[in-house]
Amino acid sequence: MASDIFGNPLPPEAPEDEGLPPPPPQEGPGLFGEPDPPTAAAPPPPPAPPAPVAASGTPYRVLARKYRPQNFADLIGQEALVRTLRNAFAQGRVHHAFMLTGVRGVGKTTTARIIARALNCIGTDGKGGPTPDPCGVCAECRAILADRHPDVQELDAASNNGIDDVRELRERLRFRPAQGRFKVIILDEVHMMSTAAFNALLKTLEEPPPDVKFMLATTELRKVPTTILSRCQTFHLRRVPQDQLLGHFQRICGLEEVPAEAEALAMVARAADGSVRDGLSILDQAIAMAGGGGVTAEAVVDMLGLAERGLAVSLMEALMAGDAAAALALSEQAHARGTDPGVVLSDLLELTHLLSRMKSVPALRKDPALPEAERVRGAQLADRLSIPVLARCWQMLLKGMQEVAQDGVDRRAAAEMVLIRIAHVAELPTPGDLVRRLTEQGVSAPAGPAAPPPGGGGLRAIAGGGAGGGAAVAVAQAVAAPVEAVAPVVASYRDIAALAHGRKPMLHAHLVHSVHPVKVTPGRVEIRTKPDAPRDLAQQITALLLEFTGTRWTVALSNAEGEPTLADQGRAAEQDRRALARTHPLVQAVLEAFPGATIEAVRDASLDNYGLPPPSIDSDPGRDFAPPDAEPVGLDDDISPED
Ligand SMILES: [Zn+2]
Repeated sequence: MASDIFGNPLPPEAPEDEGLPPPPPQEGPGLFGEPDPPTAAAPPPPPAPPAPVAASGTPYRVLARKYRPQNFADLIGQEALVRTLRNAFAQGRVHHAFMLTGVRGVGKTTTARIIARALNCIGTDGKGGPTPDPCGVCAECRAILADRHPDVQELDAASNNGIDDVRELRERLRFRPAQGRFKVIILDEVHMMSTAAFNALLKTLEEPPPDVKFMLATTELRKVPTTILSRCQTFHLRRVPQDQLLGHFQRICGLEEVPAEAEALAMVARAADGSVRDGLSILDQAIAMAGGGGVTAEAVVDMLGLAERGLAVSLMEALMAGDAAAALALSEQAHARGTDPGVVLSDLLELTHLLSRMKSVPALRKDPALPEAERVRGAQLADRLSIPVLARCWQMLLKGMQEVAQDGVDRRAAAEMVLIRIAHVAELPTPGDLVRRLTEQGVSAPAGPAAPPPGGGGLRAIAGGGAGGGAAVAVAQAVAAPVEAVAPVVASYRDIAALAHGRKPMLHAHLVHSVHPVKVTPGRVEIRTKPDAPRDLAQQITALLLEFTGTRWTVALSNAEGEPTLADQGRAAEQDRRALARTHPLVQAVLEAFPGATIEAVRDASLDNYGLPPPSIDSDPGRDFAPPDAEPVGLDDDISPED
């Protein structure tokens, strides 16, 4: 290897075989104005030996390789990293170990190789030093570009992950560079190394020979020990934004002289999900499929399986119309095409997410990266559906996917059950709708403050999913009684207890659990205490009333039976509410739709802190009683509002 210093022929690149049909537009100049293959070097390379030739007569290189960035300027989407590295070179302070992290195909090893060239470039005149702008034509640059520089070694840590590999590496580092200025060790997928290998590497990383630089790359930074990380300068390579990918692909199609529809390239950029390499590999396939013609959106839709997404839109339309038969027919189509039932649900889930986003970000409807089915029909769906309906659909799909994934379950049957359930529930109102209906009913009901809406209005039942516990569907929500700021009123025993709430926790507990209210009239309270009540409870109540009403009340202990304690009253009321909720038609519908669902709680916003409804007018002897100079009490103290 070391003998290949000047002007030796570049070995022909083996045709990349990634199962791609051979297409090829002819080889053009490099994307970034560099000759490709390099010809500007002096002396010029002798003619290359015959290269493997593709059908059209020119050797074909996959786009990802052909347009691999050769300079920092070529790295798209990594501006921050490039700026930092440029500064480091400008100041001559290049760290001896870099950690490059980011998703696959985002340019980690490419960046490492550019750094290797920047460190070793000697410039066109052979006299240059390390530079952020490697010339690309000197012997060092060309050798590194061709993967044949003796001092630049790229190792896959996945297959060189043992301690012996690291020992061997350390052994090699004892010698000075054979040709270049620096030995550059590129360790890819470094998180795959064993703990022992990490430890062996640690010493070298700590005190490397002055002419050695480490470039570590990983997709999983969290698996790399901190001891290693602390010795490296870490760079996070970003996913490349879609618009930058789109621009990149447009430039490449221009250079390759392949006409391509903007919509087609936008879809490729979206599918690439931030990875230049993945995007170019898709583009390769699309160009191959075009067979010398242009890259069309239609072809890309087919190639990427986006037709399935169109089916997902149809399926969603059927589900949201409550048409279970149509939904099952579409699912049958997907099955016939070999689509997994789980994938159908996951496509629906993704579509639900997209529709929700469309409602929040209207600009998405014009996003050229979306296939037409989603852009046009999706937008119509988004207009029709409310966020609560979409949220409910999301929940049901999530739970459904768990069911489909369960061991031993008939996946297809399980998926169909999910579709039937969603279609069935599509007709049910959402909590918000119900509130509106109840409110409207309340308005048209005969006047009267104490008349609750019919059908157990004011109920809020929550049906929780059984085993999965995923779906919780609120079917009804109470309409809170309008609350106005009122003067403090102590008209009932509950009002007295409420005075202690949040202020005197011990006293409050006694008032709730240990007292049977007997009678409350203005200025006088009669109670029967349970044996566990403190002896001075009457005095404590007197003090409480004096403090908060400004009036001295009489607190009398009575032998009369009185009412149950507030705690017992609350419990009884809760049981009544559950029984009532169980008979509510909406709740019954939900219990049927979600097998295994249970009523977990019934909430009524009009209830007070003790789970009790506001006292009725009849049992409210103290309505007129409110000391004129009483201190105002905040509404959050659970004092029942008065009209
Ligand atoms: Zn150079």
